[in-house]
Amino acid sequence: MTATAKIRIIGGGLAGCEAAWQALQLGCDVILHEMRPEKMTGAHTSGRLAELVCSNSLKSTLEVSAPGQLKLEMSQLNSLIIQAANAAKVPAGNALAVDREIFSQFIESALLNHPKFKRVDGEVTHLPSPEELASANEYLIICSGPLTSPALAQEIDRITGNQKRLYFYDAIAPVISADSIDMDVCYLADRYGEGEGDYINVPLDKEQYNQFIDGVEAAEKVPLHEFEDVNYFESCLPIEVMIQRGRETLRFGPMKPVGLDNPRTGRRPWGVIQLRQENIEKTMYSMVGFQTKMKWPEQKRLFSTLPGLQNLEILRYGSIHRNTYINGPELLAEDLSLKDSPRIFLAGQITGVEGYTESAAIGLLAGRFAALKSVGKTAPTLPAQCLLGALWVYITKGNLGKYAPMNANLGLLAPVEVDRKASKSDRKSLQIKRANEVFSDYLNGLH
Ligand SMILES: Cc1cc2nc3c(=O)[nH]c(=O)nc-3n(C[C@H](O)[C@H](O)[C@H](O)COP(=O)(O)OP(=O)(O)OC[C@H]3O[C@@H](n4cnc5c(N)ncnc54)[C@H](O)[C@@H]3O)c2cc1C
Repeated sequence: MTATAKIRIIGGGLAGCEAAWQALQLGCDVILHEMRPEKMTGAHTSGRLAELVCSNSLKSTLEVSAPGQLKLEMSQLNSLIIQAANAAKVPAGNALAVDREIFSQFIESALLNHPKFKRVDGEVTHLPSPEELASANEYLIICSGPLTSPALAQEIDRITGNQKRLYFYDAIAPVISADSIDMDVCYLADRYGEGEGDYINVPLDKEQYNQFIDGVEAAEKVPLHEFEDVNYFESCLPIEVMIQRGRETLRFGPMKPVGLDNPRTGRRPWGVIQLRQENIEKTMYSMVGFQTKMKWPEQKRLFSTLPGLQNLEILRYGSIHRNTYINGPELLAEDLSLKDSPRIFLAGQITGVEGYTESAAIGLLAGRFAALKSVGKTAPTLPAQCLLGALWVYITKGNLGKYAPMNANLGLLAPVEVDRKASKSDRKSLQIKRANEVFSDYLNGLH
């Protein structure tokens, strides 16, 4: 008789705990390695499992919102993180905010009291070979998060072929909703007409440009953490750092207007912000070269003053921070195992999602996928029109632009076919309705 397969998990954060819970529910033995408190990251402060490193919010609970829908789908798959969040809930309007102590206690109690679960303390600095995993009949899920210890990061780099497919910084520009761009002001054009009008251009005159520069200079910025150094990559400097080099720097960099004459006026604007298509469905556009450390409300306030962006909806905010993540679409198979090492899975923020709930969501999938693989089964394919499916598609297939961490947002879902006159909120409600329908079919398929 074959011995039962073990699932070994590295990292007792949001993804690791959720993956462990899902594998336990499917009958596996689980061993979870956590290095804290022996070795701390730069952001955690305790040795507890599922410590929330910063805010205590798991974002919106609104039915017609991406975070609300993601939590609903996770709870239908018996998510431990969502159960803990509901048990630890504190009043916070439409957000699911938690008492972080009760939250961690709930998760620890569910896992540590489970007869098939074992926590092992200490840093993992070596990853087993495929042969070692096969002979021990083990499957490994790496959930070591954005602050993966350097020794383990080196190991991940080694087993993924030392191809520089492991990144250590997010330097991301905002992604905005196509619906919120006023095309009566903005226009389609590629520099010098080379292309088929792929970019949407936001034109600024001299006064608007100067106001914008003043606005960025005055805006509140996110302070650096102690564990983050300030050596930005020259090719992805934040706009505020570029402005410190001179007020005109942006006009000779990402806001260069040459070759982008405005067809409405026939003239060259003083400065142009280019918006590049992020997905096939043309629901998301990124602001080219607009990496920024401005605080999120400041980004919303300031970018909404730009011509044609008065109704701006930001789907993913710009940010620059320490973050270890792999190039998911290049490295991951559909079941979230490495294409070259089918017994090694990755989950959580290290796969290229961003956020507590999103990290737990990928932990949920990886835990299930690994458990099913250990008994020779394959999970049915997730539909791309629900939130779990859309995140899964993103990390295994990517979008059109450079691969960068992504949070749950409705721009990831294909648009619904509706009357052109339908309001934005009607469209969103229909996307959510469809997400619920396809997810419910998926659940029926599982049962
Ligand atoms: C400073 C900071 C602030 C953030 N703030 C927010 C926020 O407010 N809201 C939000 O939604 N998201 C936030 N995030 C993003 C992200 O959602 C969280 O980091 C989330 O915790 C990621 O979940 P995870 O399970 O992938 O990683 P983590 O929760 O970080 O879990 C990874 C675990 O692996 C352990 N580990 C690492 N290396 C090893 C090793 N070699 N051996 C054993 N164990 C190891 C770590 O100690 C850690 O416990 C923040 C991220 C950072 C870095």
